Amino acid sequence: MIRSITRQKTPEEISGLLEPFTKIFIVGCGTCTTMARTGGQPEVVRMAKSLQEAGKEITGTMMIPVACDELTHEALEENKQAIAGADVLLIMTCAFGVQTIALHFMDKPVVPALDTLFIGKEKQPGTFDEICIQCGECVLGETGGICPVAGCHKGLVNGPCGGTDKGKCEVDAKKDCVWTLIYNKLEALGSLDVMRRYQDPKNYHVEPQPGKVLIPFEERSEEDGTQP
Ligand code: SF4
Ligand code: SF4
Repeated sequence: MIRSITRQKTPEEISGLLEPFTKIFIVGCGTCTTMARTGGQPEVVRMAKSLQEAGKEITGTMMIPVACDELTHEALEENKQAIAGADVLLIMTCAFGVQTIALHFMDKPVVPALDTLFIGKEKQPGTFDEICIQCGECVLGETGGICPVAGCHKGLVNGPCGGTDKGKCEVDAKKDCVWTLIYNKLEALGSLDVMRRYQDPKNYHVEPQPGKVLIPFEERSEEDGTQP
């Protein structure tokens, strides 16, 4: 079971990440980001409209019913043609969806439109994997869509460390070094220069704990068509 609470990046952040690209394909999610009203159908339509007004070309949009399950791959394949015509995929799902899509299309850059605030996943019954620590300042746009904060045992945002060995992690030799995965993805994109950019130390207190997002009652009533 997934619970991903997300918040849309500012228009300035999104336009900065999309600056090198002209043709954009937008992906929304029918589950958690629909619930949070950050990446459902209405938000995807609004995002497409505002990007078109900013001079971008939208090659298509799609809603994945559940961006974090195995059917995502099939859903993406159904839109393969429109996706092939895009320079970049703008992902309005949680960070799990961004990373699923980043690894599905190794030759396509992905840009997250949202920050994931808190998330956890049950990989198989009784086994839980942390795939995002909900840092509140998502760096996936700088790391090929693969998270070093959750995936690196040392949480390095400027990696790899000196212990990486033949693509494996020095802390757990059975596990891929996440910075090798990031390197491979950036190499496939022809964007290895991004590895040279220094990332500032992370602020781990962007979202006060315990995390809470509350949609004001007036806003809910307005969108639902009911009176407050
Ligand atoms: S950088 Fe990693 S930990 Fe932070 S929001 Fe993005 S995926 Fe989650
Ligand atoms: S080997 Fe890679 S994943 Fe492991 S601690 Fe070093 S940089 Fe992080």
